[in-house]
Amino acid sequence: MVVVQRKELTLAERLYLPEVLRGLSLTFRKFFEKPITRQYPEEPLPTDEVTRGQPRLVVKDDGNIACVSCGMCEIACPAYAITIDGGETDRTIEREPKKFEIDMLRCILCGFCEEACPKDAIFMSNELELADYTRAGLVYDMEKLKRPKSALQRRIDYIYKLNNRWRSKP
Ligand code: SF4
Ligand code: SF4
Repeated sequence: MVVVQRKELTLAERLYLPEVLRGLSLTFRKFFEKPITRQYPEEPLPTDEVTRGQPRLVVKDDGNIACVSCGMCEIACPAYAITIDGGETDRTIEREPKKFEIDMLRCILCGFCEEACPKDAIFMSNELELADYTRAGLVYDMEKLKRPKSALQRRIDYIYKLNNRWRSKP
């Protein structure tokens, strides 16, 4: 039979004093450090060009939407979040969406729509916040999705820089 020899505890150890003192010293040191708690929403999350927020549609400088309703993003979307109905235009660019909806409750912010688009018409914005009182309110239509190109320019430049890695050097 194996007999386990246990160390005799001191009175301080029996009262958990070393642990209590270590805990108190940690609390005391943290007391004087800069707080790391973010006071959201007054202090919003920092975003940059890498931030993959909600997808938004580009409105060109001439005021027209860049989307030609080709449906590539709709096909690429793994969450089936995008619904597009295309229509003809009398402009030389042939087509534009009559209906373009993204169900934000389905969207997983994967960025596949951004990658699939051949017309640089949809980009991931830095908009992260999402709230409404109804599910229907979170199905964003074209008016809610449209953003001027300048509002997405930082992301557009970033994606161009990324894609330049695959372009052959002259
Ligand atoms: S980010 Fe992903 S899930 Fe969201 S609409 Fe685009 S492809 Fe669909
Ligand atoms: S892939 Fe681009 S151009 Fe085609 S429907 Fe989607 S947003 Fe429009």
